[in-house]
Amino acid sequence: MNNPKAIFVNVAIPFLIAITFALLVFYQNKIPSFLLGILPYVFYILSAIVMFISWHFNRNRFLFVLFPLVLIYIGFEFLPASKATLLFKYISIIFPLHLLIFLILSERGLFSLWGNLKTAFVVIETGIIIWFIEYPNPMILDIFKIKLFIFDTFPLSDISIVIGLFILFIMFSLILFNHFLMYNGSFLLILISLYATLYFVRVQNVIELGFIAIVLIILVLLIREAYRLAFYDELTSLPGRRALIEDMAKLGRKYTLAMCDIDHFKKFNDTYGHDTGDEVLKMVASKLANVGGGGKAYRYGGEEFTLLFPSKDVDESFVHADILRESIAKTPFVVRNKKSAKKIFINISAGIVQNSSKDKDPFATMKRADNALYKAKKAGRNTVIKE
Ligand code: GH3
Ligand code: MG
Ligand code: MG
Repeated sequence: MNNPKAIFVNVAIPFLIAITFALLVFYQNKIPSFLLGILPYVFYILSAIVMFISWHFNRNRFLFVLFPLVLIYIGFEFLPASKATLLFKYISIIFPLHLLIFLILSERGLFSLWGNLKTAFVVIETGIIIWFIEYPNPMILDIFKIKLFIFDTFPLSDISIVIGLFILFIMFSLILFNHFLMYNGSFLLILISLYATLYFVRVQNVIELGFIAIVLIILVLLIREAYRLAFYDELTSLPGRRALIEDMAKLGRKYTLAMCDIDHFKKFNDTYGHDTGDEVLKMVASKLANVGGGGKAYRYGGEEFTLLFPSKDVDESFVHADILRESIAKTPFVVRNKKSAKKIFINISAGIVQNSSKDKDPFATMKRADNALYKAKKAGRNTVIKE
């Protein structure tokens, strides 16, 4: 289960965008009319920018979400009313599923086999929708007439509400249990914004504002993704060395720094394989991530981690570092092979120091922590040495 604080942050950011646009729809009489007039251009330009960035960053799932959205917008804008109504009906059941599919499918190169299959999928999907707009099929139209609820869902069909609720349920589960929280949170709000837009379709400018909200949710997600790529370690999800250097530059007068290193990790890798080694790194990182005492953990590199305790002296921080050491040493790591499962214990050593006026910069403090770590190794490992 994901950490509630992380869930909150990842849902709150797209939620704020969505709610802002809901308010804009509500108070649109206060918006100057020339601004309302340029909304379609804002939508097209933003979509083009976001599609370009997505392609550039190889985050193609957004291309596959935005491109159909632009086509839908063009359809609503230029189709005669009867055909636009058909488009509305079709996309209200297909686009939510489309969103879920492209949230779940993993990211591959646009021109890889998977990329080509996805492109083919979108082309066929678009083709089918255009076909049924031109040649409506009475059997399909009957589906939209099925009544399942006692309340009126018009202009949405009952079937689209059922699909929406089903996808909402899956997205909620993903938010609770899947670690791609940033994506899951944003796609949930895209889904909700889409339904709100479609439900209130008869309100002036709702399509423009609703679709711009969706593009902005994706843009903010892309910016956060770029930040994550730069500052976070892919394997352990801890902030990496770049984040550590940034944070070290912001430290106050007093702080404590610990360098931690997994004991005999080379031997572990040699015995159980590199992949199992990676799992151990994740386990250790998840323990370190929950360090107490206001500390923050970073993956310094390889099997080495750094703990920073801003405004804390070494005695206070030592307690928290030692709690972690003990907790890691006591947690069995289960190695499975085809026949059996074996419990193994691994441990870490750490050197912890407080900054001193003699250190010319935080790197000098770090060097001293490294020396203390070296002593912990010499002292037999599975220890924290403070200096
Ligand atoms: P010591 O107790 O003295 O620290 O011994 P050690 O074997 O842990 O020390 P050493 O620094 O010689 O070995 C570190 C090993 O960590 C070597 C390398 O194979 C492994 N390692 C570094 N990064 C990764 C990684 O990302 N994944 C895996 N699986 N292993 C890694
Ligand atoms: Mg090492
Ligand atoms: Mg080591």
